Amino acid sequence: MSEDRLEVETEERLARRPWPAEPLARNIEVSFEVFPPATEAGYGTVVETVGKLAAMGPAFVSVTYGAGGSTRHRTVDVIRVLRREFPELPIAGHLTCGGASMRELNEVLDHYAELGVRRVVALRGDPTEGHATSTNEVPDARALVELIRGRPDGAEWHVSVAGYPETHPLAASRQADLSYLADKVSAGADRVISQFFFDNEDFLRFHRDARAAGVGVPIVPGIMPVADLTKISRFAQRCGASIPAWMPDLYEGLDGDPDVRRLVGATLAAEQCRHLAEHGINVLHLYTMNHAAISTAVCRMLGMRPRHTKSHPTAQPA
Ligand code: FAD
Repeated sequence: MSEDRLEVETEERLARRPWPAEPLARNIEVSFEVFPPATEAGYGTVVETVGKLAAMGPAFVSVTYGAGGSTRHRTVDVIRVLRREFPELPIAGHLTCGGASMRELNEVLDHYAELGVRRVVALRGDPTEGHATSTNEVPDARALVELIRGRPDGAEWHVSVAGYPETHPLAASRQADLSYLADKVSAGADRVISQFFFDNEDFLRFHRDARAAGVGVPIVPGIMPVADLTKISRFAQRCGASIPAWMPDLYEGLDGDPDVRRLVGATLAAEQCRHLAEHGINVLHLYTMNHAAISTAVCRMLGMRPRHTKSHPTAQPA
């Protein structure tokens, strides 16, 4: 090939897509999701993780809520520790209503409020084995949003709800799922955070269809960097997310090599986020799985840089 021809082809290629690693010009906003540790000994690790994530200046860090009862108190405990260690970091507490009474839900909200937390991710939750649903007072996430807005301090909460790009497994139909999502927003939700997905077309279609169904609030993609495909495949099966046929191939033969799996996961998630950003989606929610390094690498690839650092690895609940 002549040098002239090579130059033309290179220019054409560059015009189609900028060099992928070039930092994105537009402002990206991220939030991170972490889960409480299984035992009290794990609080320090969570604090260390959140300290590293906080350095990236997220809009907030959210803490999941254990459905079924046994780990519920840990969400409040972890939030208490995080508020103490990182007083300037905005925190969101998740809250699931399945099996809980109105009184119990209000108590958790009171705890959040006492800790200065006014962001909540309002969910129904899934019934877990061994924890039968004892009450149906607040049957679904829409009813939970109504409960929050009906409190004397109802207007002070920033409420997020879940959305499903590939449709919730219990939905009667895709359209029914979208119209129920619109109901959750009409009940007072400020934001939709999506279940994870790996095909951006699924999210972009969901975004379009949710807007058409009347969802006017921000719809934020939930991004799952995958360090352990076997584990994530199990989650995906339960929540109705699909694993694209090309994905297992990327992780094949890496069972004994967690470092490479993490690098593959960070690269994939960064690609996914950059592609979404090219489509104008610049607010993202990262399911960190309590791994700071992967999510930090993704943020760096999106052009974000640390703002401050502070971590207290020995922290215990007060
Ligand atoms: P809902 O929105 O109440 O209902 C789920 C689906 O059921 C709806 O999408 C709809 O199709 C159908 N449905 C329900 N009620 C009605 C109705 N009245 N009319 C019509 N259709 C209805 N789980 C945890 O246990 N702890 C967590 O911290 C947690 N955090 C999460 C965070 C995010 C961002 C997401 C996406 C999920 C999270 N989950 C969590 C999982 C969640 O609890 C499950 O996906 C659960 O199955 C549904 O919860 P939901 O709030 O979407 O439920």
